Amino acid sequence: MTGFQKAFAPIDAPNDDFQSLFATHPSPMWVYDPGSLRFLIVNNAAADLYGYSRQDYARMTVLDIRPEQERKRMLDAVQARTDMERAERWTHLKANGETLEVLTYGRAVRFDGRDAILAIVQDRTEVNAAQRQVSDTRSMLDSIVDNLPVGVFVKDMEEDGRYILFNEACGVIVGHDPEGIIGQSDSIIFEEKQTAIFREQDSRALGAGTTISFEETMQRADGTPRILRTIKRALPAPDGGVPRYVLGISQDVTEERSVEARLAYMAMHDALTGLPNRASFADHIQREAPVATTENPLALLYLDVDHFKHINDSKGHAAGDALLCQVAGRLMQLVADGDLVARLGGDEFALLLRLERRENIERFAERLLRSLSAPFDLDGVDEHVTCSIGIALAPEHAEDDDVLMRNADLALYAAKESGRSTYRFYLPEMRLEAERRHMLTAELHEALLKGQFELHYQPIVQLDDDGLAGFEALIRWRHPVRGLVPPMEFIPIAEETGLIIQIGEWVLREACRAAAAWPDHLKIAVNLSVCQFRHNSLLATVVAVLDETGLRPERLEIEITESVFLADVEQSLPLLRALKELGIRIAIDDFGTGYSSFSYLRAFAFDKIKLDRSFVSGIETDPGNLAIVRAVVGIGSGFNATTLAEGIETEEQLRKLRAEGFSEVQGFLLGTPMQQAEAEALIHGGASPLLAATGS
Ligand code: C2E
Ligand code: CA
Ligand code: CA
Repeated sequence: MTGFQKAFAPIDAPNDDFQSLFATHPSPMWVYDPGSLRFLIVNNAAADLYGYSRQDYARMTVLDIRPEQERKRMLDAVQARTDMERAERWTHLKANGETLEVLTYGRAVRFDGRDAILAIVQDRTEVNAAQRQVSDTRSMLDSIVDNLPVGVFVKDMEEDGRYILFNEACGVIVGHDPEGIIGQSDSIIFEEKQTAIFREQDSRALGAGTTISFEETMQRADGTPRILRTIKRALPAPDGGVPRYVLGISQDVTEERSVEARLAYMAMHDALTGLPNRASFADHIQREAPVATTENPLALLYLDVDHFKHINDSKGHAAGDALLCQVAGRLMQLVADGDLVARLGGDEFALLLRLERRENIERFAERLLRSLSAPFDLDGVDEHVTCSIGIALAPEHAEDDDVLMRNADLALYAAKESGRSTYRFYLPEMRLEAERRHMLTAELHEALLKGQFELHYQPIVQLDDDGLAGFEALIRWRHPVRGLVPPMEFIPIAEETGLIIQIGEWVLREACRAAAAWPDHLKIAVNLSVCQFRHNSLLATVVAVLDETGLRPERLEIEITESVFLADVEQSLPLLRALKELGIRIAIDDFGTGYSSFSYLRAFAFDKIKLDRSFVSGIETDPGNLAIVRAVVGIGSGFNATTLAEGIETEEQLRKLRAEGFSEVQGFLLGTPMQQAEAEALIHGGASPLLAATGS
């Protein structure tokens, strides 16, 4: 007979309804004997949940459905009745060995007339798992938020904007420990001014309904300024009501911005001197040239270091760099605030000045030249340089930046042409001159194609027997309209445009061909431009021409000027030596007019020194000239070189130079440059040009 009898409300008649309610109740339940701990009755739900058979239950005690470690607690609880009338957490064992997490609820009852305990079980396994998952998820989210490389924070606006979230990155950005910030509001953490800024942002975010974003500079706790990029937005209230929380995401972009600033700086500045570069200069002039007015004019000065390449080549690039930096420093010292000094590249600088009167600009240019004429200290060695300056004014000379730059360039060209170390203002004629040069260049190309060049030959007389030593070949251009054009009018342009290479090769071939037909003792002198020395085909060309014409190398004399040494000595010297090696004679032309550095006389053994004609013309009037002339004879004999005096025009000059001991002479007195046929008539006429000239 089974049935329930409530301990304190015994019901004597067993009640079938209760029994069936117990059996079919969805909550697992059983009744056990607190003395023997044996199961007295187990309902269906319990049987299903635990999986033990009815026979099992008949043999088991309530300890058997507990894992070993829980049994002691159970015994204690039963004895002390502590698990009665309240829910208690337990772990139970199922028949298949799995564990269940349960809440049990114990109650004293009367069963079959004795005291028993009713246990009602609630299976919490799934609920617990779900809860665990929720809490796992929550802590995972927390850890994600904490490990985000951006600062994330949430403020509760109903609670004075107290922080309810403030991740690690936020802490790093502001320099505060996040722990101390949660629960605090801005006014406790930041200064008043900063707090006001944050408050204004928060209320904007709350009102905006969308994300607001901004970049701001704030002080970190240690006082260092940081640039933050922040977005803020109100988190929508779940019920669609007034938002309460403001979410913020901040990124420290200080480094990013400083890299950007550095890149922007580098794009607009010259790395060597730190001056604004060409791009920056172009920016300036584009902005300023069009707005220049007569009352508020703009002066553009182009400045170029004369012979900078020479310094770079002879002293090395480090010295060249040091020089440019010092030039930049001097320019910066001279300009006023608001004026621009830029390095356009190489040894080219530009200055943009706001000087109103032309006299002021002139004075400035003179000051510039003076400042730059003081020696530069290149590694402890004083180096003197000069500069050329071209000046164009807006709006006087040009109204837009392009024309202004072109005009300053023309003025600079003119300054260089007029002997360097000076300044020139732009003049309209310079444009015409540039156009003329441009036209000339095109015409020179044509001249070469159409064979408009010819060589004239000027006799060279040797003074030991007054006989003909040979000729110097001098180029002429027979222009269809302008007639015979002298070399000084087109050689410089041919050099500038590189056409000199082809012209020079033609001269060499033509001169050697003519000379090859002359008596074997006559020499032919050919002028070579410094540009030809920079071109690496020179040696091969000379060898080929000698080979083609059959001229003995000993009969060829190459005339070069000192400028060859101003160019690339490293390249010129071996080339000169190779030419000499072939048997060709090398003469130094226009001696005395160059840079008067005698070092190259030691570096290379010239076969001939040609004294420049300016010394010859001054010989009669200026006693100083005579001293130089004498010195040249001395140098010639010291270096074992033939000495020749050029530009002899009078008997008196000839007499003096003969007396000084020159070995050769050349000049109008002895013969002007003449056409080939004339030269050959002179050769075959047998008459000494000296005798012919002097009529004796
Ligand atoms: P240079 O090499 O010094 O040539 C001598 C110049 O002096 C020639 O001028 C000649 O006509 C001139 N001359 C000769 N005797 C006298 C005189 O008694 N009095 C005066 N006042 N002048 C005299 P030219 O032919 O006009 O040549 C000028 C310069 O052009 C030459 O100076 C030379 O540097 C260059 N040149 C001439 N032909 C060539 C050439 O084929 N190639 C190169 N690269 N340059 C050349
Ligand atoms: Ca010459
Ligand atoms: Ca000469």
